[in-house]
Amino acid sequence: MADTVRLRPGDTIGILGGGQLGRMLALAAASLGLKTHIFCPEPDSPAFDVTADFTIAAYDDIGALNAFAAAVSVVTYEFENVPGPTAAHLAARVPVRPGPTALEVSQDRLSEKDFLSGAGIELATYARIDSDDDLKAALERFGGRGVLKTRRFGYDGKGQVMLRQASDQRGARRAIGDAPAVLEQLITFEKEVSVIVARGVSGQTEVYDVTENRHEHHILKTSTVPASVSASTAATAKTIAGKIAESLDYVGVMGVEMFVVADGDGERLLVNEIAPRVHNSGHWTEDACLTSQFEQHMRAVAGWPLGSAERHSDVIMENLIGNEAESWEEILREPGARLHLYGKRASRPGRKMGHVNRIRPKSA
Ligand code: ATP
Ligand code: MG
Repeated sequence: MADTVRLRPGDTIGILGGGQLGRMLALAAASLGLKTHIFCPEPDSPAFDVTADFTIAAYDDIGALNAFAAAVSVVTYEFENVPGPTAAHLAARVPVRPGPTALEVSQDRLSEKDFLSGAGIELATYARIDSDDDLKAALERFGGRGVLKTRRFGYDGKGQVMLRQASDQRGARRAIGDAPAVLEQLITFEKEVSVIVARGVSGQTEVYDVTENRHEHHILKTSTVPASVSASTAATAKTIAGKIAESLDYVGVMGVEMFVVADGDGERLLVNEIAPRVHNSGHWTEDACLTSQFEQHMRAVAGWPLGSAERHSDVIMENLIGNEAESWEEILREPGARLHLYGKRASRPGRKMGHVNRIRPKSA
């Protein structure tokens, strides 16, 4: 289907997935006079609170998918593990943005890495692992160290094992259930950064400032902007993100995670992974930029002009995980703090309950 559809205010965007990202997308859509229809199997989804319409059904429920496609002008998603047949079924009826290539490529770490290296992007050295022999051979090549990651369904560090010595290898494949995997070279990085990039239907591209990310227990804890990298590293990071969006003929917002590694007196960037959706490390854009990543994604998906990604403030975004969201009242009193809660009913350890953007006047 030729993808030239442009929405008008009042039209409906379908969103697969009803978590906090879907919720913030729906809120941004509403502020532009667009309606959303959220499709999600979980009855208690946070996004249902803020959308004009929703469907609770399994992703392979053909009847529900047909009704959903008939009710919306375009479909997007808040997570990259949308089953391939679901995306294909919808794409035959209504434009799906970002398109099928972005989804296929990013669902599988191996195809993602093959695609990125084919596009001339620098990555950690990697190898395909389907057997104990593959792992043994790859570990020998990588000096006995590496990170073994499942090709599919990894998130927040789940589905990966760090190997620091060759003797770890027997347990490592068992620990990921012998799933098809990749081994990556273990990178000694100075810091982790990410770049949020948006690309519109016409090819217009807007790139946000580089974000410095700190993880705790494998979960993103803070995103700080500006990142403490050199001006040339920042410029290169933005160029890399733009190049990836271009090579995928991408429509929408994408997160690109990178490692900053020391290189003589300078810095070098290696891409870790991409996410074909709005990204946790882009939540700061809500309060520090002219256009948030959520509004930007809704604009792109609607076939509308993108807004400026210009940043007007410095900011530190902090994820509120598990019971940390209980300090909501204290945060509300804090000068310069902007609180965002996801409306999740139950708090569990490791569960993202909200975030706070702490804003300061722009320094650089
Ligand atoms: P998330 O959902 O948080 O993005 P994920 O499960 O998709 O995580 P990755 O982003 O690939 O997994 O890795 C999680 C973290 O593990 C990285 O942010 C980084 O800190 C560390 N890590 C991953 N790959 C490597 C590597 N090759 N060398 C060193 N550290 C790594
Ligand atoms: Mg990651």
